Amino acid sequence: MNSFVDMTALLSRCRAPTGKVFLVGAGPGDPDLLTVRAARLLADADAVVYDHLVSDEVLELISADAERIYVGKERSNHSMAQRDINTLLVSLARAGRQVIRLKGGDPFVFGRGGEELQALAAEGITFEVVPGITAACGVASYAGIPLTHRDHAQACLFVTGHLKDGSCDLDWSALARARQTVVIYMGLGGLPEICKQLIAHGLPAGTPAAVVQQGTTLDQRVVSATLADLDARVAEAGLCSPCLIIVGEVVRLRDQLAWFGECAAGAATGVADAAIDAGLND
Ligand code: SAH
Repeated sequence: MNSFVDMTALLSRCRAPTGKVFLVGAGPGDPDLLTVRAARLLADADAVVYDHLVSDEVLELISADAERIYVGKERSNHSMAQRDINTLLVSLARAGRQVIRLKGGDPFVFGRGGEELQALAAEGITFEVVPGITAACGVASYAGIPLTHRDHAQACLFVTGHLKDGSCDLDWSALARARQTVVIYMGLGGLPEICKQLIAHGLPAGTPAAVVQQGTTLDQRVVSATLADLDARVAEAGLCSPCLIIVGEVVRLRDQLAWFGECAAGAATGVADAAIDAGLND
């Protein structure tokens, strides 16, 4: 009898412990925008698999004992293929690890979070999802651009401007409607085409539009202009990734509502402000 009990205990000890994957949104950059749940999980992490959009300030919140695994994901410079990331998550969980899969913004908004969970589900790995503030919400807030406003926009579309092989299959007619805001993720490379198509499909060339680089961080830069000249002004300012494009009448409200960074309303307008945040009042 005793030996049966001992054998059971031994077997259960030999069985691989079950790990779990937490798919966690890191928000757009400012670490104060993390959810309480995300901050708690990072402080108690065992292994963290993260991509390039996660800010250094957020990474600093990871437990010193945790193994950190960078898997990249810069456009056209993927440091690890999606298939390999999926395999890595499965094998860490199978090894009994409590794995945090940390992604910029919200993991279910242009973050391939769904694909990663499908791979885990297929392998019977347990998971949880912790939402994050997606770039559209965080970046627009810190740029002083309300995404909806009863006087200007009753709808808001989030789309990806990532153009495959130079071609773009966005539904331009749907994007070029009045009284809505369009937020374009991954659109910097396609900016000239995006502005051209929106005008060609009916939006006035004078429609206010902005590009926000590294929103919510101390390096945030905003170029606001019109669809007609946004591309030229962004090139002039030399903005680089990550950038979010916001198109619609609500962009005009930034003149009054900017509160963060160098262009905050009421702040002395310096040379940089004038050069970067120009266009709407021309
Ligand atoms: N899952 C993320 C989006 C990943 S796609 C989210 O929910 O926010 C990556 C794109 O998000 C970038 O190319 C850029 O368009 C946008 N983005 C993310 N963080 C940003 C930031 N701090 N400032 C501006 N754009 C940002």
